[in-house]
Amino acid sequence: MRLSVTFQADETCRCLTTDGNWGDNLLKASREGHYECVKKLTAQINIRHVTEDIKGIMEDKECINKAILAASREGHCTVLETLISVGGNLNCFDSERKTPIIIAARNGFTNTVKTLINLGADIDFSDCHRRNSMTHAATGRHYGIVAILLAYHPNVDIVALERNTALTLAATKGDTDLVKLFLRQKADINHTAVFGNALSCASRGGHTATVEVLLQEGNCVNSAEHDSVPPRGQTPIMLAADAGHIETMKLLLLWGADIDQEDKESRTSLHHAAQISESFDREVFHGKSDHA
Ligand SMILES: [Zn+2]
Repeated sequence: MRLSVTFQADETCRCLTTDGNWGDNLLKASREGHYECVKKLTAQINIRHVTEDIKGIMEDKECINKAILAASREGHCTVLETLISVGGNLNCFDSERKTPIIIAARNGFTNTVKTLINLGADIDFSDCHRRNSMTHAATGRHYGIVAILLAYHPNVDIVALERNTALTLAATKGDTDLVKLFLRQKADINHTAVFGNALSCASRGGHTATVEVLLQEGNCVNSAEHDSVPPRGQTPIMLAADAGHIETMKLLLLWGADIDQEDKESRTSLHHAAQISESFDREVFHGKSDHA
C-alpha cells in the first residue's frame, strides 16, 4: 500500500500543490530547481517506506532517477545532491543511455559536472552512440568542461559512430583549440575514422588552421589510410581539392604534399582538382601566370 501525500497549508509552491502523485511533483520540483520543494518531498521517503512495500520503494527509486535526469538537464546542483543523497542512482540513464554527467556536460553546466565528479560519477560511461561525457562536452564546445574532465583522465580515444574519436570530430569541425587540447592529452593522432585520420577530416572541411596544427603535431601530409568506403585512398590534398579548399591545398603543398600520389582509382590530386574547375587546378598547381 502506498501512502498518499498530503501537504501543510503553508506549502503553496505549485510543485507541492499540483494535482498529481509524489513522483510527478518530485519531477516538477527537480526540473525547476526548487531545492526546498525537493527537500520536502524527499523527506517523505522514509515515511513512505515504512510500509515496506517493495514495489512502492522500487517505484520511488525510479521517480528519483527520473528527477535526477531532469535536474541534470537544467544544471540544478543542489537538487542533484539531495536526490542522490536519498538513494538516487548517480549513473542512471535515459532512453539514449545518457547519464547525468553526460547530460550536464553536453548542456555546458560546469558546476554540475564538478559536483557529479565529486560524487563519483562514471565519466567514461558511454551513451547509445558510444560517446562519453568528454565527447559530449567537446561536441557542445564547452572547453572548460572538457578541461575538467581531461584532468580525470577519461578515455580520450573512445571510438564513437563512424569510428570517430573526440580528435577526429574536433578536426572535422575545425575546432583547433579542442584539437590542441586532445593532443596535449596524448590522443591518438593517427586514429583513422571512416573518413580518414584527423588531418584528412580537417582537410576535407578546409580548416586550414587545424590542418597546420595537425601537420606540426605529426600527421603525415600524404596519409591515406581510409576505410573501404569512399574516399578510397585519398590523401589530404585530394580531399581539400574535392571540396575546393584552395588555401588548405596551398598549405598542404608547402608541407610537401605529393601531387603525383594516386588514390585507389588511380587519380592524382590534379584529377581531383580538375574535376572541380580547370582554373582552380592551374591556380594551385601551376600558378596563374603560366596560363595567362
Ligand atoms: Zn516548488
